[in-house]
Amino acid sequence: MSLASLAQQLCEPHLTMHAGRIGKAQALLTELREHISHGTHEGGGNGTKQRILVNAQALDLLNTITTEARTAYTDRYGQPAPTLETCINTIGKGDHPPDWQHYFEQQYQRFITSIEATMRPKKLRRLDNIVCPSCQQATFGNERETCLYLDCYTGPDRELRHPSEWTVTCQACQATWAHKDMKWLIVALAQ
Ligand SMILES: [Zn+2]
Repeated sequence: MSLASLAQQLCEPHLTMHAGRIGKAQALLTELREHISHGTHEGGGNGTKQRILVNAQALDLLNTITTEARTAYTDRYGQPAPTLETCINTIGKGDHPPDWQHYFEQQYQRFITSIEATMRPKKLRRLDNIVCPSCQQATFGNERETCLYLDCYTGPDRELRHPSEWTVTCQACQATWAHKDMKWLIVALAQ
């Protein structure tokens, strides 16, 4: 993807593919800022409390991105950096020597990947009461957390992926199983 369109995804409303349809998405940095004040406890508890919570992970990410983007601007132009969005817009529309061009493309792609991962973490299906064939536990730790998780969803709406792409991971012993090695799970679920 070109530097201009990476910068646009970060700073401006843009078109995006979602579930096979083209839709309009707001700027990722705008979305990240909104995510910060919405806190971490989505979908549960008292609504007014949620608004006060700050999502520390999202705030950290915005601070890191701001520092990196502004430092790169100063390094590139030898001038004090303006606001985050102005830096990215200016660089996105600018002409750069090839090594700088490559550097900014890598940097902005990394920003986009981190924002997406923070705002839309992978949804996993918890497998309660099933014993891990590797460490022989169903729960672990003082909190008795569930060991096994099925990675079977894709996209923000949790559509099911094809079963041949499913994997199971044990959070306790880190063992993983691909679909072809999941007979034990089918047996456990049937019991
Ligand atoms: Zn295990």
